[in-house]
Amino acid sequence: MNNIILNDLITKVEEYNLAEVEFVKRAYEYANNLHNGQVRQSGEPYITHPLNVAYILADMHADIDTVCAGLLHDTLEDTEVTKEDIAHDFNQNIANLVDGVTKISKMNFSSKQDQNLANTRKIITSITEDVRIIIIKLADRLHNMRTLEFKSEFKQKENALETMEIFVPLAYYIGAYRIKSELEDLSLRYLKPDMYKKIEEKKSRLEEESNKCLQEMLFKIQTLLNDKTIPNEIKVRTKNIYGIYKRLNEGQRLSDIHDLLALKIMVDDVANCYLTLGMIHHEYHPINDKFKDYICNPKTNMYKSLHTTVFGPDDRLVQTQIRTFDMDKVASFGLTAYWDIKKGKARDIMQEDLKGKFQFFKSLTEINSMFGDNQQFVSQVKLELFSDLIYVYTTKGDIIELPKGATPIDFAYKLSTDIGNTMVGVFVNDEYVPINHILHNKDRVRIVTDDLSFGPREEWENIARTSYAKKMIREFNKELI
Ligand code: MN
Repeated sequence: MNNIILNDLITKVEEYNLAEVEFVKRAYEYANNLHNGQVRQSGEPYITHPLNVAYILADMHADIDTVCAGLLHDTLEDTEVTKEDIAHDFNQNIANLVDGVTKISKMNFSSKQDQNLANTRKIITSITEDVRIIIIKLADRLHNMRTLEFKSEFKQKENALETMEIFVPLAYYIGAYRIKSELEDLSLRYLKPDMYKKIEEKKSRLEEESNKCLQEMLFKIQTLLNDKTIPNEIKVRTKNIYGIYKRLNEGQRLSDIHDLLALKIMVDDVANCYLTLGMIHHEYHPINDKFKDYICNPKTNMYKSLHTTVFGPDDRLVQTQIRTFDMDKVASFGLTAYWDIKKGKARDIMQEDLKGKFQFFKSLTEINSMFGDNQQFVSQVKLELFSDLIYVYTTKGDIIELPKGATPIDFAYKLSTDIGNTMVGVFVNDEYVPINHILHNKDRVRIVTDDLSFGPREEWENIARTSYAKKMIREFNKELI
């Protein structure tokens, strides 16, 4: 939705928080006064930007402090107002949020200067203090990317690259898939315009072609579920353009992409997820190795769902994703779904879960405690959290997520400290390989352990890429001295 006006925001907020609408109006007037006279490159008054950011947040049913911080998010940077003013005129919470968002804007991953490095470190560690800062920043970036057409070509490419490098991973880590895929597509559109157009055309042709088959399947599954009086909702979903681009780049053909077309099936509870799975497998022939149970084994960003790819009508491969309504909210909005599911206490529960369950936060804390030197800290964060991920298999078929460039040492420690400490060799895809072998997507990895081994050798610390493995190797060798 473009060209939001204040009334749209108010209507959105009224949907879930009638009591605090006046507070939001006041924040709007305040920001509008401060930005008065400033214009965007599109020629529109500047306030349209914070207004849209606040709207994106209200659409996720964000709490009122977050919506207000969205309205005020550029005032510290672009106007005379101070953090103390905002704390005084609104509250300390909003002031902290706006301040946090302003700091992230100054984050610079590529600078080599000491002061910048120290600053970047401070920012990275502070964003984990209140996850809402990341969410506001993502809304900010999303609106900037949606309106990128008014920037110079150089700026477009620069912003798109930065989005792919920093904001897409952040969206992934908090599980906000809907924002992630929109950011990816917007970036690709500016980075590879020709490619984007080509895939876009192919995709819409494919959607047209397969529409009949998908609708037929949707109707059949819906009828089966209704017959058993299982509350349900089913949606058709195609992979985003960037997702298709990535697969084509890996050498796959369009017809090989097994999850290009998907049916998203939402039901009321977990037991009915498995019941639905059984019904689908009974009706449509599944492909054996494409079944995944992310309900029993959630992804590191808390994504939960059952995935199974089956032969649909016309022998077309169709992926079905089965989950509960609540799981679906988490799948679209990640941590932010808590605003809707947990209502009042959302912020505390979000923060608690970020620390306890989301791998991103654990890794960040780990890296922070390991590296005293700011340059090493920043490059480790970049390497471990902001580079591409690979997925490899254990012998049991479990999927392990690792940063690109990871070795069997990282894999072993990810399984358990014991396995890492007693590793004596490794097989990758049934072949014996050296311990510094670089793992690739979809490798099957088998670690050979020996309880009588001498433990990890000191030089392994340099071979490992993940800070957890490095830390464990260092600790083991420290104990020996
Ligand atoms: Mn902004």
